[in-house]
Amino acid sequence: MSTLEIRNLSAAVGGKQILNGIDLTVSSGEVHVVMGPNGAGKSTLSAVVMGKPGYEVLEGTVTLDGVDVLALPAWQRAQAGLHLVMQYPTEVPGVLLAAVLVQALVARGASTDGLDARLATESTRIGFDAGLLHRALNVDLSGGEKKRNETLQLAVLEPKIAILDELDSGLDIDALRDCARRVEDATNETGLGVLAITHYNRLLAELRPDRVHILVKGRIVASGGPELADVLERDGYAAFSGDEPEPEVPPRGGSLEDLFRLP
Ligand code: ADP
Ligand code: MG
Repeated sequence: MSTLEIRNLSAAVGGKQILNGIDLTVSSGEVHVVMGPNGAGKSTLSAVVMGKPGYEVLEGTVTLDGVDVLALPAWQRAQAGLHLVMQYPTEVPGVLLAAVLVQALVARGASTDGLDARLATESTRIGFDAGLLHRALNVDLSGGEKKRNETLQLAVLEPKIAILDELDSGLDIDALRDCARRVEDATNETGLGVLAITHYNRLLAELRPDRVHILVKGRIVASGGPELADVLERDGYAAFSGDEPEPEVPPRGGSLEDLFRLP
């Protein structure tokens, strides 16, 4: 049983504060979904937790099973069991996927026995063309292939907690189903804990959330069960902005002149 605990996390990037006091706890087997509009700070949250350089933690803590994650470089966070599926997977020319996985497993002290068979099985399961296993990592892959590739890495590395930053972006409906289903299976088979970041609840058809959190302007403004995603789908983020509603514009007089009069 593992727990990722984010407490009162505030962070800045480029000299601008983006996250304001985030509290989130994700345990093995759980799926937490963070939904929010563009620019809310969703990718910033994933970057800060995973240790992408350039982000400044202003306040708060992040621990994995009590270990201070923020004190570790990104590669040690990965070794400790955190895994990020990036919104825009990086292309790495000259480096084969299989080589990356071998190195990652060795660094974890895990066995690489039977890796080829494992890759073949997982490729079938995720609908990833096995021919692409022998290509450079993510190079010249379509958006859907990249996300299937990322999901395959997740499946093979078996992290404790995975952060999915818009797994659904750039995916067609079939790829989305295959990837989301594989992640959902991992929560049941290996007890993976998931922090899934998304705009859309179409991801949630396969990846069933235990909790949904709404992130607006760097704050979690609402948390609830899966039904919260339905409210969001119906009402949009406006209901959760935390801002005063826009004043209604009073009806104007009927003449044509009124229409063109400057306010
Ligand atoms: P989301 O993923 O929710 O769309 P992001 O976390 O990517 O939002 O971005 C949140 C805010 O932080 C945005 O206003 C964005 O412009 C800003 N931001 C992100 N990265 C940087 C950066 N490296 N320098 C300056 N501002 C940044
Ligand atoms: Mg983002």
